[in-house]
Amino acid sequence: MPAITLVGAQWGDEGKGKATDLVGNRVDYVVRYQGGNNAGHTVVIGDEKYALHLLPSGILSPDVVPVIANGVVIDPGVLFEELRGLRERGVDTENLLISANAHLIMPYHRALDKVSERFLGKGRIGTTGRGIGPTYADKISRVGVRVQDMFDPKILRKKIELTLNDKNQILTKVFNRRGLDAEQIIDEYLGYADMLRPYVADTSLVLNQALDEGKTVFLEGSQGTLLDIDHGTYPFVTSSSPTAGGACAGAGLGPTRISKVVGILKSYTTRVGSGPFPTELLDESGEWLRQHGGEYGVTTGRNRRCGWFDAAIARYATRINGITDIFLTKLDVLSGLDRIPVCVGYNVEGVRHDEIPLTQTEFHHATPIYEYLDGWDSDISHVRSFEELPKNAQAYVRTLEEMAGAPISAVGVGPGRDQTLELRSLV
Ligand code: IMP
Repeated sequence: MPAITLVGAQWGDEGKGKATDLVGNRVDYVVRYQGGNNAGHTVVIGDEKYALHLLPSGILSPDVVPVIANGVVIDPGVLFEELRGLRERGVDTENLLISANAHLIMPYHRALDKVSERFLGKGRIGTTGRGIGPTYADKISRVGVRVQDMFDPKILRKKIELTLNDKNQILTKVFNRRGLDAEQIIDEYLGYADMLRPYVADTSLVLNQALDEGKTVFLEGSQGTLLDIDHGTYPFVTSSSPTAGGACAGAGLGPTRISKVVGILKSYTTRVGSGPFPTELLDESGEWLRQHGGEYGVTTGRNRRCGWFDAAIARYATRINGITDIFLTKLDVLSGLDRIPVCVGYNVEGVRHDEIPLTQTEFHHATPIYEYLDGWDSDISHVRSFEELPKNAQAYVRTLEEMAGAPISAVGVGPGRDQTLELRSLV
């Protein structure tokens, strides 16, 4: 049986939690392969709303094994807080698996994330301040601390002492901040070791064996294609690879094991943090989208920047990820508009671009070229099949499908578990 990858096709917050939840009962494993607690997946089950930051959405489905794979960065304090919160609400968290190779977010990573953003001033990235970037930087510099290091107190001490030496110099001499105390950090992290041990496994081995046995593995990306360290709007990106290629390295699966790539696409566009966003609306239309779509960040509570659908970005995401199926979310938010602008390309200093321009400088100067599609009046949140949608809503979906270059297999018309129109099965 196959491994299926789910990726955000824009700048994150496309509604990935809802898509994972839809297939949650039909898969055996749900795996996070990159990012950390910078993510924010909202899942609504009945009257209950869950906001997950680090744990895979699959944790809410009793028959699914949730996995935090090697490509993720883990803040142990946040992990145990999130587990405790779910247990208090009656969610069974016992079958969670965590890779021994995943890297740990340390207190100095959080401190450096915050202070370096502050020093960047207007040039700041607008990070979530969770220490994600500095943790990945240490991983690549080969001075990171991994989950398995917690089970060897000598190694843990050595690593923290060595690294902190360096970090404290930076905190105190470059940023004029107070240094951190190694003993305190060592004590805190050794304290997590026993709590973590029951969950730790060779997750790559487990997942490959599961596939050999005919099980279905669902790889759940966080953030989105345009926030990818290689393929996003660098430097206004996250520090990992949320794109489909990143799923293989981040979970320890070969590319030939992945048979489907589901791209999550919002019916309009949002972004948090800094960076170019050609269709951004800075007028009352943007505020209208924000209010109708509830576009406030799950993780940081920041207002999301809002704009119309951008077909060039959708097409780019299809290409970079090899998307085979699209899950179009939040169509209901657009109800009530007379006509809906859709960006079909850009004008960059008088030159038309049908695809994302070659350089960031051009992308910063890109203004959208719009086509206008007819809107619909009625509330569609009670609709349960594609054919019941107003004709103009159907046409909107079909036009986006053609522009994005991949079939739309599901359409979201509300946050609830039952508010999804499935055109063809995702699993
Ligand atoms: P970091 O991931 O905290 O380093 O932040 C880098 C950029 O990615 C910032 O612009 C964040 O706002 C953005 N970002 C990180 N996680 C998410 C997410 O889950 N949704 C949307 N944007 C995100």
